[in-house]
Amino acid sequence: METLHTTLLIIGGGPGGYVAGIRAGQLNVPTILVEGASPGGTCLNIGCIPSKALIHAADEFCKARSYAAETSPLGITGSEPRIDLERTVAWKDGIVKKLTGGVGALLKKNGVKLVEGWATILDGKTVEVRQEGDAEASVRIRCEHMLLAAGSVPVELPFMPFGGPVISSTEALSPSGVPQRLVVVGAGYIGLELGTAYRKLGAQVTVVEAADRILPAYDADLVKPVAAALGRLGVELRLGTSVLGMDGSNVRVRDASGVEALLEADCVLVAVGRKPRTTGWGLENLMLDMDGRAIKVDNQCRTSMRNVWAIGDLAGEPMLAHRAMAQGEMVAEIVSGKRRHFEPAAIPAVCFTDPEIVVVGMSPLDADKAGIEIVTANFPFSANGRAMTIESTDGFVRVVARKSDHRIIGWQAVGGAVSELAAGFTQSIELGAQLEDIAGTIHAHPTLGEAVQEAALRALGHALHI
Ligand code: FAD
Ligand code: NAD
Repeated sequence: METLHTTLLIIGGGPGGYVAGIRAGQLNVPTILVEGASPGGTCLNIGCIPSKALIHAADEFCKARSYAAETSPLGITGSEPRIDLERTVAWKDGIVKKLTGGVGALLKKNGVKLVEGWATILDGKTVEVRQEGDAEASVRIRCEHMLLAAGSVPVELPFMPFGGPVISSTEALSPSGVPQRLVVVGAGYIGLELGTAYRKLGAQVTVVEAADRILPAYDADLVKPVAAALGRLGVELRLGTSVLGMDGSNVRVRDASGVEALLEADCVLVAVGRKPRTTGWGLENLMLDMDGRAIKVDNQCRTSMRNVWAIGDLAGEPMLAHRAMAQGEMVAEIVSGKRRHFEPAAIPAVCFTDPEIVVVGMSPLDADKAGIEIVTANFPFSANGRAMTIESTDGFVRVVARKSDHRIIGWQAVGGAVSELAAGFTQSIELGAQLEDIAGTIHAHPTLGEAVQEAALRALGHALHI
């Protein structure tokens, strides 16, 4: 068997692994990246990008249907639209192909060797790689540094395993048709992003959530406009309800008071979380310290074994692509000899529901729990001109600042297109801005950004437009 030698070996070519590869290549660190499926990982192939493509297609279709139903207040009417889902999926696949091809090209341009196949760890410096379907490994790789970036997999409910009508997000992103009745288990990121998209594509959607509200990780005020929009769309929410299993083609559920019911379903999307991919590739041979289901890392992404690093979903929450990328970039720099630590002031999180939600840093509740005295204010989109012109007046921007020096420690927003506010929010916290900095910055008119400035002004006691 051929043996390759390298300084940095990266296992997994998702956002964490491929960004580490690009940066290591830029810094002239000899690097090999092993990827068993397709460069780009979960995010580009079966996650962030395809889900946002499907959400966009569903939005467009839903809008066109409102024109046909003559319910658009804009006065636009039109004939009954149809959707050719095969073409929609082909369009989505085209975007994925362009992006994953781009990742391959960037790795090549930066001198990173891409080895296609599944790595099995033999020890902290050696892996063997076998191609999909091959019984035997075809190549052995020895390295000085091993970067584990194998990502995560969907959590399966033991009494309702994936297969047949029970699907994960992966299958939901390449539908061959729109099911008449879709039951979604889990009202988290995936359940609500994809549940909303399927409703807009025409499915009857019921969401079953164990907690007593949707998106339980976010504060109650933030999710209210999303819950209201789901109601208007006709998505049925069954909160405080547990799934018991399949009963023929029905889903058996039990609510908080113990009452059982059967929900008719042509398809069941299980979206109850993801877990780090820690089995099936020899990881146990390293006997690394764990933090729950994830690999334990320090603030440089070092594991408990010297020169073995772990990043991204494999290293636990928050399981977000931009965190994985930032960690990957940092590890490549440390391996090249730079001094770096992973200590971001804040990691933004965006939920691409309708309306969207953005959270960065601390909410008022987080600050309260941390014993920080705060000033906080909301500015509603109902008082923002741009929001009116894009028909999205539900929602608000909220700022949270330390009372003592007005330093901003958190932003939250809910509303149409607020995902694009995430950059400014995160920059202001990373740069240590105070309320006065945001209040004193000229924000373009008419934009949603004016609500950001107004929230800061309001926290200072002199909002102008409310
Ligand atoms: P992954 O992207 O999971 O990549 C790991 C790679 O390692 C995979 O390509 C896998 O094939 C490969 N691999 C694993 N084991 C081996 C092995 N033994 N040998 C070789 N290769 C191996 N995050 C956001 O920030 N924004 C979003 O909008 C968003 N939307 C999402 C939507 C969905 C439906 C899903 C499922 C996830 C979404 N996420 C989103 C989460 C995001 O996809 C992950 O946080 C991100 O992909 C993690 O990157 P990673 O590099 O850690 O791992
Ligand atoms: P999630 O953790 O966001 O939500 C899971 C939901 O399922 C929770 O509300 C939980 O209370 C509920 N739940 C758990 N067990 C249940 C049960 N037995 N019955 C009913 N409800 C149950 O998980 P997800 O939606 O699967 O997404 C996985 C991860 O992928 C996310 O945590 C996130 O890291 C990532 N993701 C991010 C984005 C984004 O950034 N926009 C989008 C999609 C996915």
